[in-house]
Amino acid sequence: MEPQVFRIAIDGPAGAGKSTIARRVAKGLGFVYVDTGAMYRAMALLCLRKGIRPEDAQAVSQAAGAAQITISYIAGEQRVLLDGEDVSGQIRTEEVGNMASAISAYPAVRAHLLGLQRSLAARSSVIMDGRDIGTCVLPDAEAKVFLTASPQVRAMRRFKELKEKGEMCNLQEIEQDIIERDQRDMNRAASPLKQAEDAVLVDGSHMGIDQVVAAVIDVAVSRGLKVDSGVWK
Ligand code: C5P
Repeated sequence: MEPQVFRIAIDGPAGAGKSTIARRVAKGLGFVYVDTGAMYRAMALLCLRKGIRPEDAQAVSQAAGAAQITISYIAGEQRVLLDGEDVSGQIRTEEVGNMASAISAYPAVRAHLLGLQRSLAARSSVIMDGRDIGTCVLPDAEAKVFLTASPQVRAMRRFKELKEKGEMCNLQEIEQDIIERDQRDMNRAASPLKQAEDAVLVDGSHMGIDQVVAAVIDVAVSRGLKVDSGVWK
């Protein structure tokens, strides 16, 4: 018998805070957090390593088709494995993010990851974040949130993050990058970024992390999630 699971889909543009929020919600509810962007990033890393240009649809699709992406959890944290190698520490650069955005437009890349994403959600209750979770990966998810924030707010957050890591960065370039990435994600033919009809829009531009976390939990509760006192902290 299939386990009884509750699935929360959280989609939205780059830098809206999806992973921070999803990680907190997962911890509070005892759900598994699935970061699908990390899977696209692992594919992107592979293409970068092989020197494949993002415009070369055939080479990208071939490399992606042959790649084995798997997910494991260490102390509750998702690790992404590329052909058995844990690449989690190597995928958080702007270069990999931009490559991921370019190659995720190819249907072969998306199809390759879809099975993995769905199988993770079949096993346990999840909060899964990405661009097409509510529209394509888990169209029957019990709760869906579309989390956004203004490009200025998103750029400023990313700028601070990079600065903290000691990386050289320029606020205007980051904002431009975010706008271009949004355009690519929203305008591609294969599973574009868009709000699912039954998703609740949360604009976190002027909200703190705790407020957004509470808003996501509220959506889940309004869609039937039972939260025992003590489980949700
Ligand atoms: O969320 P993150 O920035 O890690 O995702 C990297 C890129 O992967 C995104 O810009 C997007 O193009 C792509 N992606 C996607 N579908 C998802 C998750 C990520 O197309 N479900």
